[in-house]
Amino acid sequence: MSVTSTSGKQSVEHDRSLPQSLKRGAIQRCPACGSGALFKRYLKVADQCPSCSEELYHHRADDAPPYFTILILGHFIVAGVMMVEDYFRPSYWLHALMWVPLTIGLSLWLLPRVKGALVGLQWALKMHGFGGAEVVEDSTCTTRPKPAKALE
Ligand SMILES: [Zn+2]
Repeated sequence: MSVTSTSGKQSVEHDRSLPQSLKRGAIQRCPACGSGALFKRYLKVADQCPSCSEELYHHRADDAPPYFTILILGHFIVAGVMMVEDYFRPSYWLHALMWVPLTIGLSLWLLPRVKGALVGLQWALKMHGFGGAEVVEDSTCTTRPKPAKALE
């Protein structure tokens, strides 16, 4: 971490190592300092890190955390269901009794970790305003393609 001065404004520049940011996010810590809590509630990302004051509200995880949670967990649950069925052939009610609570429980456990890792990824790659003022889109840019005309 180093302190830089650009255009008379003080800003703190962190080391944005991707693996470190992913790991810090996955353990639900601030991707910048690794010590402040990333979430203020279960899945609600804090606006600022309580430890280093890094702005965290820039994240746009949207539907990605549930998508990746389903993708990751689906491989284990479906494989587990097929293995148990193949080896033990339990009745369907026993399958439901076993896999439904396991799936719900593991989903609730994994979801904030995946979301934290995605916030860490966005922070490391300076996405969605995490990079500061220098990466914010220039509204005076004239080379941006014009939106297509609506069909008449
Ligand atoms: Zn922090």
